[in-house]
Amino acid sequence: MNGAIRDHILKSRYLQPGEKSFSDICSRVASAIGKDEAEREQFLHMMEDLLFLPNSPALMNAGTRNPQLSACFVIPVGPTIPEIFRALREGAIIQVNDGGTGYSFSEIPPCGTPIKEGGGISPGPVRIMEIFDTATRVIREGGRRRGANMGVLDIAHPDILSFITAKKEEGVLENFNISVMIPDRYMQALTEGSHDEILTIHPISGEVISVREVFSAIVEGIHRNGEPGVLFADTINAANPTPALGSMRATNPCGEEPLLPYESCILGSINLPLFLQNQSVAWDKLDEITRLAVRFLDNAIDQTTHPLPEIAEATRRTRKIGLGVMGLHDTLLLAGIPYDSEEARTFAEEVMGFITATAIDESKCCAAELGVFPAWEGSIWHEPIRNAALTTIAPTGTISLIAGVSPGIEPVYSFVSIRRHTAGREFEMIHPVFKRALDEEIARCGYTESAAEVKRREVIDHIRATGTLRNIDWLHHSFRRLYRSAGDISPDDHLRMQAAFQRHTHAAIAKTINLRSDTIMDEITHAIISAWTLGLKGVTCYRIGSRRDTVYRPHGCS
Ligand code: UDP
Repeated sequence: MNGAIRDHILKSRYLQPGEKSFSDICSRVASAIGKDEAEREQFLHMMEDLLFLPNSPALMNAGTRNPQLSACFVIPVGPTIPEIFRALREGAIIQVNDGGTGYSFSEIPPCGTPIKEGGGISPGPVRIMEIFDTATRVIREGGRRRGANMGVLDIAHPDILSFITAKKEEGVLENFNISVMIPDRYMQALTEGSHDEILTIHPISGEVISVREVFSAIVEGIHRNGEPGVLFADTINAANPTPALGSMRATNPCGEEPLLPYESCILGSINLPLFLQNQSVAWDKLDEITRLAVRFLDNAIDQTTHPLPEIAEATRRTRKIGLGVMGLHDTLLLAGIPYDSEEARTFAEEVMGFITATAIDESKCCAAELGVFPAWEGSIWHEPIRNAALTTIAPTGTISLIAGVSPGIEPVYSFVSIRRHTAGREFEMIHPVFKRALDEEIARCGYTESAAEVKRREVIDHIRATGTLRNIDWLHHSFRRLYRSAGDISPDDHLRMQAAFQRHTHAAIAKTINLRSDTIMDEITHAIISAWTLGLKGVTCYRIGSRRDTVYRPHGCS
């Protein structure tokens, strides 16, 4: 990890007045979250040694006068003007408190139709989202964290086509990720070829919209610039741990947390490469840190300031936590396992299966000590447990930089990247595991010292120019096979890895399915169908090179 980048991140966003180092941050956070001296010590070491890090709001705010610790929120948007502006106000309060919010705009009446209670004529969901977008931009100016929103619309909303194309021009709704919520019946229509079926008729324009048209618009949008994302309503709600409390209609901004209205979730990620010993997993250590992390995140629910009373109530009722991992690809590289292999997926299932089973066990121990979550009766859990949901896979866009590892479960985007310093200087960043391996590979080829330097430069320049090393013939086949980056990995293999994790994860997975720049529309349709068939809760695709800038969605776009 480039220490200069880490120092810059810590200084600009995480250090509180009087703090000088990462250790100072860990001490503040551990003191605030630990219940007693012993626990504080354990939390401190777990963070200082980078074995586990909580999401950014917890690192920034724990132990301060406003300890808002949660990264993820979902706020309901009702159909009337007062309800819409209430949601706007609530989202603003969350944003100044460093959280990201998801909204379903599906209840907003179609454009041109009357709004209930004498509310005039509806401008439709897209115009309303523009107001939310502007509010975010204004509120976040000068803030420590970019504002991030998720806007969701049900596929059968009459304004669905204008929603899907709303982000056609770059820069519009720039603080939103957008996703279409699709129930199984429309996915079935797509797979069975019966998608000429009428989806909806616009009540004002009389426009007849078929399932086929909407899917074409989704696929075109993804091909154009990676939006919209897709969410699978029935898969999400089949995994709802508290169905008696209602259904989940939106997720947080990066999609890893489908939540009920007003719920929030504090995330934290285990730094996987540090659990590898002699190329195999140190299971005892993973067991210990998983249990500590569950306690940390459960304590945090009682330590955080909930930005609104409704959020306090909904969050305390289910006590969901979001434990996940980062550094998957680095771990695989260190173990010599290609990301797009059956062996990697088996590894993923074993590790995530272990983490989730251990987290469940620890949450049951917590329940015996501290009680079950208040909505436990009527939930899917038969045995007493403290948290309605425990695991998720976050993007870890910033905390993975602090830890110096690959983000979340993403493959490395490029083994050589350029970062521009604010002072205008360029840094060439070479992935540390790759750098060592390349030196060894060049040494294996037996070049003299000066020839080796030329060869090293050749590889690095080639990756800078093309993003890949797959066609450098003199590198050994097995080396090229292992060091595949995001664009070298087929969409099917991206999806299979996401599915391997999803099978052992309670909430959802933040992941980008990278597509080659010459990907055609049919391949995108295929990816959406595969995602659904594999049991994913949603899918986000990005065609390499198709976008200049993004909302906070770190992986497809570095
Ligand atoms: N998030 C946000 N603004 C940001 C970055 C993240 O609101 O600038 C929220 C969003 O809900 C996202 C979640 O934090 O889904 C987790 O993102 P990530 O894991 O990348 O955050 P980190 O803890 O690494 O900063």
